[in-house]
Amino acid sequence: MNDARAAFFGGMLLLTLCVVAAGLVFGWPHAAITALSFCVYFLLRQMQEIGRLLDWVRQPLGTPPPVAMGDGVWDMVFGGLTRHHRDSMLERHQLNLALDRFRLAAEALPDGVVILDDAQQIEWMNRQAGLCLSLHATADVGTRILHLLREPEFQIYLADPNNFDHALLLSTTRSPGRFLQLQMMPFSAGRSLLLVRDTTQLVRMSTMRRDFVANVSHELKTPLTVTLGFLEALEDAPAETPPEERAHYVQMASTQARRMQSLIEDLLTLSMLETDAQPKDECVDLLKLIESVLADAQALSKNQHEILLEIDSPVIIIHGDKSELHSALLNLASNAVHYTPAGGRIVLHWRILETGEGELGVTDNGIGIALSDIDRLTERFFRTDRGRARVGNASGTGLGLAIAKQVVERHHSKLMIRSVLGQGSTFCIVFPADRLA
Ligand code: ADP
Repeated sequence: MNDARAAFFGGMLLLTLCVVAAGLVFGWPHAAITALSFCVYFLLRQMQEIGRLLDWVRQPLGTPPPVAMGDGVWDMVFGGLTRHHRDSMLERHQLNLALDRFRLAAEALPDGVVILDDAQQIEWMNRQAGLCLSLHATADVGTRILHLLREPEFQIYLADPNNFDHALLLSTTRSPGRFLQLQMMPFSAGRSLLLVRDTTQLVRMSTMRRDFVANVSHELKTPLTVTLGFLEALEDAPAETPPEERAHYVQMASTQARRMQSLIEDLLTLSMLETDAQPKDECVDLLKLIESVLADAQALSKNQHEILLEIDSPVIIIHGDKSELHSALLNLASNAVHYTPAGGRIVLHWRILETGEGELGVTDNGIGIALSDIDRLTERFFRTDRGRARVGNASGTGLGLAIAKQVVERHHSKLMIRSVLGQGSTFCIVFPADRLA
């Protein structure tokens, strides 16, 4: 400002000196005309520069100021404005960068974030919030959140700020099948953050855990009740009860005890398979594995079935955990024995497929499985129609195929099941080519 004033007064002094010099040299009338023309020119220049300034003021924010035209005072004005404009553009750019960083960070959050204004209208939301609540990141901006989430429990939650110290569990019609946890976090001047967390997986896991505990309790309760029944019968049996009858009670009780034992062993195996990081990487001799399972299956069948081997491809070495693979194949073979009536045929086969994968399977011509049950076979405790007990034996634990599936998955392989009700089944483990040596 001081510079501008100095330039102005400097200019006036120069003008006065010029007029006085012109008066002394050419006479005072000439000097007066010169001074007058100069004043008119000066006024026109000021009006021109003021016009340029006003034009610029009317431009949208961010338009650079007019360039200086070599006029001392206006040079300073426009130079100052240009500097100011440059600094504010730089500041704006930095603010934009900070805002972009904030947006990227908010987008990277695993939870949904919605910013609401003091009227609970949406100001902004991240992608996750859009996904969880099925909201549109641009079209729904400016809409009251209550108009979009109409569940009564959400309305009640929003109505009382005392609720905001805890989260609300909500299942909304906007995202059917999802379970959400919503929490309002008020911040400056009536604005609030609405945090949205998708808890569907957690809810499913806790339901599964609850079902699992209920199933285990139920599976243990039945044999335990039967065992207690036989033991009480034994206790209360009159002295003259024949020894064969007592032996029968003991035998029945011990069958149930063995059932509980195998249930617990299967549960421990499952939990070990789930917690153990990696299966061993052993060179498993396939022929030995199949022969050992064949011998076990024959012992189980007690010569009631015809059990055969079909080896269509060179027998090789498989990379994997010997005891896990043995238990998986034995489960498939013993199921074939259990679910094939006496006189039936069971075939253990090995072949290399066109894809280079290796297929190790068990085929029986037993009772078969209904199409609708096939997808559920590897669920824990799933048994097809419970009324159809195992052929010639007490019912199984319902965990064998769940264990086999775990083993197969740990070996990056696939468990394939084909079956026709009343005709028989084929269960195959398909190993990827890189597991075969
Ligand atoms: P389980 O101990 O009951 O045999 P699994 O998990 O091994 O448990 O098998 C689950 C269910 O799958 C069995 O209860 C049976 O209903 C059915 N299943 C398995 N293998 C066969 C098969 N080869 N033929 C017919 N049904 C089978």
